[in-house]
Amino acid sequence: MARRFVLTTDPDVPAHRFTIDYAAELNRQQHAAATAPGGPVLIIAGAGTGKTRTLVYRVAYLVETGVPPEHIVLLTFTRRASREMLARAADLLDGRCRHVEGGTFHSFCAGILRRYAPRIGFPPNFTILDASDAADVIDVLRTERGFHKPDKRFPRKKVLQALFSGAANQDTSIQQIVQARSPQFIEFLDDLIVLRQDYRRYKQEHGLMDYDDLLNQTFLLLDEHADVAGRVGAACRHVLVDEYQDTNPVQAQLVRRFSLVHGNVTAVGDDAQSIYRFRGADFRNIIGFPDVFPGTQLFKLEQNYRSTQPILSFANHLISGARRKYEKQLFSDRREGELPALIPTPDTRTESRFVAQTILSLREEGTPLSRMAVLFRNGYNSYDLEIELSRRRIPFVKYGGLKLSEAAHIKDVLAYLRVLENPRDGVAWNRLLQLLEGVGPRTARDLIGWILSESGEPFHLAERPYAPKYAEQLRALFEVLRTLSSTTLPISEELGRIIGHYDAVLKRKYFEDYPKRLQDLEHFVTLANNHGSRSAFLSSLALEPLDLTAIDAEPEHEDERPLVLSTIHSAKGLEFHSVFIIHALEGVLPSGYSLSDPDAVDEELRLFYVAVTRAETNLFISYPVTQPMRDQRSYFNLPSRFIAEVPETLLERCSVVEGPSPNGTAFPNES
Ligand code: ATP
Ligand code: MG
Repeated sequence: MARRFVLTTDPDVPAHRFTIDYAAELNRQQHAAATAPGGPVLIIAGAGTGKTRTLVYRVAYLVETGVPPEHIVLLTFTRRASREMLARAADLLDGRCRHVEGGTFHSFCAGILRRYAPRIGFPPNFTILDASDAADVIDVLRTERGFHKPDKRFPRKKVLQALFSGAANQDTSIQQIVQARSPQFIEFLDDLIVLRQDYRRYKQEHGLMDYDDLLNQTFLLLDEHADVAGRVGAACRHVLVDEYQDTNPVQAQLVRRFSLVHGNVTAVGDDAQSIYRFRGADFRNIIGFPDVFPGTQLFKLEQNYRSTQPILSFANHLISGARRKYEKQLFSDRREGELPALIPTPDTRTESRFVAQTILSLREEGTPLSRMAVLFRNGYNSYDLEIELSRRRIPFVKYGGLKLSEAAHIKDVLAYLRVLENPRDGVAWNRLLQLLEGVGPRTARDLIGWILSESGEPFHLAERPYAPKYAEQLRALFEVLRTLSSTTLPISEELGRIIGHYDAVLKRKYFEDYPKRLQDLEHFVTLANNHGSRSAFLSSLALEPLDLTAIDAEPEHEDERPLVLSTIHSAKGLEFHSVFIIHALEGVLPSGYSLSDPDAVDEELRLFYVAVTRAETNLFISYPVTQPMRDQRSYFNLPSRFIAEVPETLLERCSVVEGPSPNGTAFPNES
C-alpha cells in the first residue's frame, strides 16, 4: 500500500468551536466516518444505518473545517436527493452548505461539458437527448439505411436504443451486448454495427448527446485534455457519492478523475441494494472501491435506525435468499412492532379499496399522508389505485412512470424550444415539421436536409419546390421561429408565443382532450418560469423529467402534503412510517422478463429488499389473486416467489372480507 501522510485539519478551528456536536448526533462509527481526514473513505452498510445521514454531516463538517463549499461535490442518484441533503446540511449548519455543488453524475457532467464541449468537437449549446429522443434518432437512421423491412425481424427502435446504450454504459462491444441480452438479433450484427456508427456520427454532426454521452464524453474530455482535467480536479477538493452501489464502471472512473488532484473521495452504499443493472450498474464496483482507491479507510455500520425489528427480521430473511450472499444482519433498538402483513385480495379493485381504506384509517390515527407510501414494480401497477384515491379525494404525488415531459403535446412544444436553442437539432425538426398538415416522415426528411444544408442565418426559408398543401404553414412556422430567435424574451413569454402558434395543432391533433392538454401547457409555462434561461430549462428537463401526476393531484386541504406513490426504483433512499407494496405477483416482482436469468431474478430480489426496507413501522404487502381477462373471464395469479415461503413468524398472513358498515364498506378484518 502507498504510504500516506495525514495532515490535520485547519488548526484555527478547534473541536470545541464546532457549531454541531458531531459525537452526540452520530454513533461511533458514523462519527469516525463523518470526521475522517482526507483521502478515500468508504462506508459500506445495510439499509437505514445512517449512510446518507453520515454524508450530510460530513458535508457540514467539511464546511466547518474551512473547505470552500463550492469545492465540495456531492453526487447523488436524483437531483431531488441532493437538494434534500443540502437543505438538511444547511439546517444543521448554515446557508453556506447551499453553495455545495450537488447533483447527479449526469447533471454534473453536463455542467462540465457546457464549459468545454468545443474541445471535443461539440457546440456548447448541444442538445441532451433522453431515451425516447435517442430512439427517434435511431429510427430515422434505420429507415435511411433501409434496415426496416417489414418482412424481417429487425429490432424495434427502443430495443436498438437499449442495446446501444447497454454497450456504451458497460463499455463493451455491441456484439457482447447482443449475445448477452438479445441473441435472437445476432444475425443482424453487421447492420447493428453500421447503425451504431451512423448514430455516433449523426450526434456529433448535429450537436446531440444522449445520457451515456454525458458520462463518456466527459471521460474522454478529461482523458484527452490534461489542462481541463487539472482545472476540474482542482475544483473538486472533496467528492462525496451516495448510493455508490448503483454506479456503473464509467461513473466509477469519473469519480477517480474528479478526485485525481486532491484524492478526497467519500463513497457510501449498500451492495444488497444495487438495482440498476439494466443501466450498467455493477454492485461489484463498491466491493472493488479499495482497489481503485488505494489506502481506503473502510467503515461499516450495523445498527438500523429506521425500522422496527420485525420489519428488519423479515428483510434479513429475504436477502439471505439471494444467490450472492450479503454478510449483513441488521438490528434495531425498536424491538417492538407489528409483523409485516401479507394480504391477498380477490382482485385488483379490492386491493385498491383495501389500500385506500387502510391509508384513511392510519391518517385518522395520526399518521400524515406524506409519511405513507405505496410502492410498485411498474408505473402502471398503480393505475387502478389512482382511480380509487381520486374517488376518495386522497391527494397523492407519483414518482416514476410517465413524466409530463414525455407527454406528446409537451414534446411538441419542447421541439420549438430545441430548434431555437440548437438549429441543427434534426430530431426536434423532425417532430416540428411533422406537426404541419400534409408533412409525413419522408417530406420531413427532405425539408430537414434543406434546412441543415443552409449556411448563414437560421430560420430563413429559401426558395424551394414546397408543395402548396403545407407551404403556407411552413412559412408561418419559420416566421415565428425567426421572430423568437432574434429577440431575447423571458422563457415564459417565449413559451407563451409558441403555444399561441401551436394552439391550432393542439386542437386538430388532440380534439378530445384539448382543454386538459392546454391546462398542462399552461402549467408547463409556470414551471419554466423557475428556470433562468431557455438552455437551463431544456437541460434540467432532459436530466430531471417532471412528474405528470405531481401536478394532477388535487389536495383536499390545500396544506395537506400528499401521499406518495412511487416505483420502487424511484423510492431508493427514502423512508416512510407506513409502506404498502402492491401487486406482489410472480411475473410482476420478479418481473416476467427476469425469470429466465438467475442474475436478473437476484436483482429483482434486491429490488424487493429495497421496497421492504423503506418501512419504519407498518409494512403491508398485497396482491390480487385473480386478474380479469379481455373476454370477461378471470385467471389466477401466483404470489411473488419472494413471499411464498416466508415463515409465519416473520410474515403474518391476513385476509380481507366484505362487511357492512355505516357507509357500506368495512375491512380489513384480519382472520
Ligand atoms: P438507505 O440504505 O435506505 O439509503 P441509509 O443508510 O442512507 O439508508 P439514512 O437514511 O441515513 O440511512 O438513515 C435512516 C434513518 O435513521 C434516518 O431517519 C436517520 O435520520 C436515522 N438515523 C441514522 N443514524 C442515526 C443516529 N445516529 N441517531 C439518530 N437517528 C439516526
Ligand atoms: Mg441513503
